[in-house]
Amino acid sequence: MKIQVLSLALLICLSLNAQDHSHKSTRAFSFPDVSGYKTLTTDFHQHTVFSDGNVWPTIRIMEALRDNLDAVSLTEHLEYQPHSEDIPHPDRNRAYQIALNEAKSHDLMVISGSEITRGAPIGHSNALFVTDANKLLVDKAEDAFASAKKQDAFVFWNHPAWYPQNPNGNPKLSDFQKERIKNGELHGIEVINDGDYAEESLAMALENNLTIMGTSDIHGLIDWHFKEKGHSRPITLVFAKERTKAALKEALLAGRTVAVFDELLVGKEEYLKPLLKACIEISDIAYINKTSILKVTLTNNSSSDLLFQNKMPYTFYSHPPLFTVPAKGSTTLQIKTLEKKENITLSLEAVGTYMAPKQHPTIEWEIEVGTE
Ligand code: ZN
Repeated sequence: MKIQVLSLALLICLSLNAQDHSHKSTRAFSFPDVSGYKTLTTDFHQHTVFSDGNVWPTIRIMEALRDNLDAVSLTEHLEYQPHSEDIPHPDRNRAYQIALNEAKSHDLMVISGSEITRGAPIGHSNALFVTDANKLLVDKAEDAFASAKKQDAFVFWNHPAWYPQNPNGNPKLSDFQKERIKNGELHGIEVINDGDYAEESLAMALENNLTIMGTSDIHGLIDWHFKEKGHSRPITLVFAKERTKAALKEALLAGRTVAVFDELLVGKEEYLKPLLKACIEISDIAYINKTSILKVTLTNNSSSDLLFQNKMPYTFYSHPPLFTVPAKGSTTLQIKTLEKKENITLSLEAVGTYMAPKQHPTIEWEIEVGTE
């Protein structure tokens, strides 16, 4: 046992050494793989001084490494360039190239991207995987979307609820978006932007089979804007067949995502449910001596706190029916099964998560108690 512990410690030391150039920290995002897919952590809406952000692109890469993200995109406004007098850059691909160069010695995928920026009702949209951002800089928004399609881009509608464009904060799909969806030029929609969750955007995602996205839309610093206020940045989990740019794009186009902001998780039922199930490990199942109170430990292997509501016919001895399993932590329930059972179904509603407006998934685990 001691030898095992020692060799494990040695292994950790060696792997830490091998990652000397890593910017990772204890705050790193982490979510389990599900249903044969790799779970990739991404933030595909960010700005730098190459549009209206306040940092150089290299800072975005260092932030992403600290958060242990798998992929990022710098999505500069094509049409809004408030720093262009000080930082003239006729080539709209520059932020991407600088970021790509910064990330080259790291295991971080940098995806090319641009924000097509118009007034309401067209609004803002991000085009990812573009081959030449300059070609999107055209007069008519229709032509920008057509160019993105020609470049085989994945395009999503940004912050549809944004109140500068929607004073009542209530987003509506315009004829422009309907046309883009019909043409295969619009594939996704932000349901979480900068920490704001819009149920109406989730409804639109489900009605129009759009990919559910969560992004930071960061302009300043991730640490100042999120960390110092006790938050993690909003991200999109993408369930990809492998950890490559091509697989990432395939997964985004197929809609295999869950948007995450702290303990809020939003996704289609078929991806949210297996994710939550994989986040929780069940262990230490046993009746307390001479009682019919069953102890069960739930360990959360994700970086989000998970809130659950008891949906079983049994009540708890030790916890209220609403409880949290902390990120990377565990909670031991004491379930009053009234008589000793050989197996029970642990049934919990994940009340911090949404598969449709106001609808939480209920997750079930079959628990074998066994005999003593
Ligand atoms: Zn933006």
